[in-house]
Amino acid sequence: MTNSKELFSEVVRRINLPEAKAEIESIALLLLEKKWNINRTDILAQKPIQLEWNEIDSYIQRINTHEPIQYILGETDFYGRSFRVNSSVLIPRPETELLVQEIIHHSKPGANPLAMLDIGTGSGCIAISLALELKCTMKAIDVSSVALAVARENATRLKANVHFMESDILSDPLTEKFDVIVSNPPYISQHEKQSIKSNVLKYEPHTALFPAGDDPLLFYRVIAAQAKDTLNPNGSLWFEINEHHGKEICEIMYSAGFGTVELLKDWSGKDRVVWGKII
Ligand code: GLN
Repeated sequence: MTNSKELFSEVVRRINLPEAKAEIESIALLLLEKKWNINRTDILAQKPIQLEWNEIDSYIQRINTHEPIQYILGETDFYGRSFRVNSSVLIPRPETELLVQEIIHHSKPGANPLAMLDIGTGSGCIAISLALELKCTMKAIDVSSVALAVARENATRLKANVHFMESDILSDPLTEKFDVIVSNPPYISQHEKQSIKSNVLKYEPHTALFPAGDDPLLFYRVIAAQAKDTLNPNGSLWFEINEHHGKEICEIMYSAGFGTVELLKDWSGKDRVVWGKII
């Protein structure tokens, strides 16, 4: 192999996943870009390269066992920044960028910084992005100490001021007041397990995907009730949701006492965000 175009084609040829060609090409491109700094332009220009095939092959073997490319690389991009990830945290998804974008859009900076809380922070991607974009006072909790270690590392690397705490929202009531509460809780039900891709099922943390006891609405009920009591006047609650439960989650918010509730769709037209205000 003498040039980057040949290398790219060979990597694509050796990746043996059931995904569509475009998906495999994007995995190959990510690998070459993040590990060897070979980008799309280098490939098109057939830039000469000197690489040991053995090293590349060990990555391809991991890809072929369905390990997500983000865990193999140890990083992924979210809202314009690179976050460290490992198998203790859910890989940040593009849908979650919508949640962050909408919160930013609706949070007008006032005289005092807004106090915000992220419940089930995982890699910290939501909390850190909001802290950096809005200069708010950000707290974030998670039940997993290993996830919090990743989140803290991300906050340090990205110079975000976030106060992380180990806490289980299902058993530890909130004691402080907030202007904004956000959560992307586990929301996949057991019967949806069969339709989940094997790379997600085999490698991503199940506590971040499946609510205990198989009630996909459990976290929404608990968080909505707690938010009602702890949000400041004019405060808002934001959820990422399972696309099949939009209406039920809106109902949960109304019955918890939220006055206005809105359901938003993601870029593929699926119900993905519910938010509400106390008035
Ligand atoms: N969006 C994730 C998925 O489809 C699930 C995230 C969650 O459970 N909060 O795999």
